[in-house]
Amino acid sequence: MKTNIDYLENKSVVVIGAGISGCTLALYLAKKGYKVQVYEKRMNLINNNEIKKRTVGMSISERGITTLKDLDLYDSYKSLLVPKYGRAVHLRSGQVYSQFYGANREAIYTVNRKHFNFYLMDACLKTGNVEFFYGHKLEKINVDDKKLTFITNTNYSIDDQDNSCSTEKVVKYEYLFGCDGTFSCVRQRLVDQGLVDATLTTLDYRFKEIYIPPRNGEYVLDPNYVHIWNIAELLFVALPDGKKGFNGTLFYTESSEVNKLKDNEKLFEFVQENCQFLSFIDKDQFIQEFNSNPESKISEVKCNNWNYQNQILLVGDAAHAMPPFYAMGMNTCIESVRVFAHLIDEFGGDISKAISHFTERRIIDTEAMKAMANRNYKKLRKCHNKDFDEKWNQAHEAMKQSNGEYETEYFQVAFTNKPFSQIVEKYGQGVDVEENGLPLISH
Ligand SMILES: Cc1cc2nc3c(=O)[nH]c(=O)nc-3n(C[C@H](O)[C@H](O)[C@H](O)COP(=O)(O)OP(=O)(O)OC[C@H]3O[C@@H](n4cnc5c(N)ncnc54)[C@H](O)[C@@H]3O)c2cc1C
Repeated sequence: MKTNIDYLENKSVVVIGAGISGCTLALYLAKKGYKVQVYEKRMNLINNNEIKKRTVGMSISERGITTLKDLDLYDSYKSLLVPKYGRAVHLRSGQVYSQFYGANREAIYTVNRKHFNFYLMDACLKTGNVEFFYGHKLEKINVDDKKLTFITNTNYSIDDQDNSCSTEKVVKYEYLFGCDGTFSCVRQRLVDQGLVDATLTTLDYRFKEIYIPPRNGEYVLDPNYVHIWNIAELLFVALPDGKKGFNGTLFYTESSEVNKLKDNEKLFEFVQENCQFLSFIDKDQFIQEFNSNPESKISEVKCNNWNYQNQILLVGDAAHAMPPFYAMGMNTCIESVRVFAHLIDEFGGDISKAISHFTERRIIDTEAMKAMANRNYKKLRKCHNKDFDEKWNQAHEAMKQSNGEYETEYFQVAFTNKPFSQIVEKYGQGVDVEENGLPLISH
């Protein structure tokens, strides 16, 4: 598509948030010829404690990879992807169930959150069309004058509310994209002014990062799997990091015993009893990690209209944050960005029109994915049951035999680019394929 650069240069495009959605969007727009300014409240994106408030490792699957291919980034990034072919579900007895994701050793991959984010930033900078402004926290939006007010402060962290030693800065925009995550300021300001309708729900789940280091320079668990322990009230998920270690995440509810036990010995005993991943990590290290790593909450965003007129658009978690139990939040975000970028092309380069029409094009799919993510928590809690394991494996064997005629829900979500709404529609309301066995989903 031909782009009129003079015209575009006069249209200042502002992206709030230099996370994965913000960088992916900035890159698409920069490639289309727009000059993009990205404002990010954090000053130091490589601070490790900041990273631990999220997760160090994330799973990327077909939808995320398709976006990387679309942006010509996949070939240079693929050597950093760490493949995982299925779940290894650890039982209390020590037995391990293997539950493959695909029919023919299809894999999802671990990416390091920090490296991936930097990789996207670097790609943005290479276009020469993207400028990053760090330590800029958005505070106000004046939609009539198209002005943004930032508080600049070199000490901001991801959730820092301290505005001391800060100065104010006002910036004009023509188009504004709110890629500022689950707790989006852009969304909140639009809600405050009655311009969008959104709710942020904090769920009862908490999580902490726990690293499982190598032993004698080797992985302590098979690196081809996502390892899961989900005994009693705890859920622990460990992803291979490609460097002989595992990035683990311990999930628990607010009322869990782990939140009440102040004594380190009792804490260790409780976790050991209920979730036996501790045989793979030294006691002292676990206690140190547990006590020093920050606890984070899980939230969900419900937002019915992501745009204000044809000027402002919410993108990524700001529009559709979901619980992490399908490992699809980031995949969905960067698929959303790709859908938006293609919508601009579909409208002959008219970004205003794409902003106005994006919600109606995409929300049906993000709502479907959110529903599947919520439901998957229940599946993860059951995957150590013998019955579940048998049905999962039967379903996958049948998928293998069907030569592509049937696919499980998981397969369609992780290994295809089919619209999520079509998967849910075909999957049927309340029918749980892996739990109930056949029938599988037919094309
Ligand atoms: C425990 C857990 C595990 C997960 N695992 C996976 C997984 O395996 N696979 C997967 O696909 N997804 C996963 N996700 C989801 C994934 O992390 C998110 O969907 C993704 O990071 C969203 O990216 P984003 O850029 O939209 O938002 P964010 O990553 O939140 O980025 C928002 C950016 O905006 C900045 N910002 C915020 N407010 C302001 C402001 N006022 N002014 C300026 N800047 C601001 C922030 O500092 C941040 O840099 C997981 C999520 C969790 C919680």
